[in-house]
Amino acid sequence: MSTGPIASAVAEGRLPGRVWFYSTYACNLACTYCLTESAPGAPRRALAGETMVELAAQAAELGFTDLGVTGGEPFLSPNPPIGRGQPTRRPGTRSRWTMRAHGGLKASSGR
Ligand code: SF4
Repeated sequence: MSTGPIASAVAEGRLPGRVWFYSTYACNLACTYCLTESAPGAPRRALAGETMVELAAQAAELGFTDLGVTGGEPFLSPNPPIGRGQPTRRPGTRSRWTMRAHGGLKASSGR
């Protein structure tokens, strides 16, 4: 367990414990209020699932407790770090994972 300044700040509530990963800026929707300005025509950028797992380990070492994955729509990523219905703790990582998706791909993705 980390005892550094970030871990202390998280434990004392001075810093949120969750690190958010923006897995892709792709989305099949185009909401006017979108924080990341994601949309079907938005320039594609991607953070690979393997990279997120590596960064999650580093974040846990620093004292962060939770990982969040969002998009755009994270299930448009070819390799999201967790899938629908999977446990929120990945083997080999200590943090809780949260996936924030809009749910509009369920019928067409087959995942
Ligand atoms: S990422 Fe979310 S808010 Fe942004 S366009 Fe897609 S569904 Fe809408």
